Amino acid sequence: MLTGVLGYPVAHSRSPAMQNAAFEALGMAPDWRYLALPVPGDLFDETVRALPGSGYRGANVTIPHKLLALAIADDASDAARGAGAANTLTFAGDGSIHADNTDVGGLLDAIGEAPGSALVLGAGGAARAVIWTLREAGADVAIWNRTAERAAALAAELDVRAAATVEPERFEAVINTTSVGLVTTLSDESALAALGLEDRAAPSLVVDLVYRGGGAPTPLQHWANQANARFVDGLEVLVRQGARSFEIWTGKEPPLDVMREAARV
Ligand code: NAP
Repeated sequence: MLTGVLGYPVAHSRSPAMQNAAFEALGMAPDWRYLALPVPGDLFDETVRALPGSGYRGANVTIPHKLLALAIADDASDAARGAGAANTLTFAGDGSIHADNTDVGGLLDAIGEAPGSALVLGAGGAARAVIWTLREAGADVAIWNRTAERAAALAAELDVRAAATVEPERFEAVINTTSVGLVTTLSDESALAALGLEDRAAPSLVVDLVYRGGGAPTPLQHWANQANARFVDGLEVLVRQGARSFEIWTGKEPPLDVMREAARV
């Protein structure tokens, strides 16, 4: 069976290495394979509809297609509907498409217990699953975004608060869903300043969805370390969402350590 990740661009994705390592470890390769599928937006629909007939069991979906993935599905899980986005598609024998959002469960798997309150930085695609997850888990959630209108719109859609200022000390957790920290040439100081975190102390839990090659530390990780805060990195979140997708497609327990090791290379 084939599986893969639909995105544009997608060459940087750690998912093929991670999922193929899992297939190898469970003796499922080469029957099961996971491919990078670079697909621009205008070809997304026809490509997805062609996958079931081409031997595909399912596909992950990443930037910029998570909203389209929900729209194309014949049915969707509560998590996908609630977040308004899907990252996992599964194809039934009759070609029908089921949408799921394993970013939701993956985040909870990565952090353990949901915090009582959380400041979510960012209002883009990645923020949706994070906000919905925390809200469903009963957390008091506020969204801050560089472009305040986007925070206000997403807060209204997902029924949480928008924060006009960044006050991390008022929350149990800060979760970075912006792309700040991705570019390694930006200094820690500049990255923290872009998020309004300079001269602020980290709360007890910091999660950074951004990850760097080999799991190298991000500015948010340095910020968390300074305050001895617990830090969960973006690779662990990636591994956990991938593990849930693996289980949906194969019905087998994912080999977490194998996937972790492959993602961190
Ligand atoms: P997106 O939809 O393009 O949103 C980008 C967000 O970053 C927006 O809120 C944007 O604010 C903010 N931003 C960008 N540059 C900024 C700057 N210089 N200063 C302040 N804010 C800035 O992207 P996305 O899909 O949400 O993804 C965001 C990041 O999460 C990416 O780095 C991605 O790799 C990562 N991610 C990780 C995982 C994982 O499993 N670990 C999963 C999904 C995504 P404006 O609205 O003001 O532009």
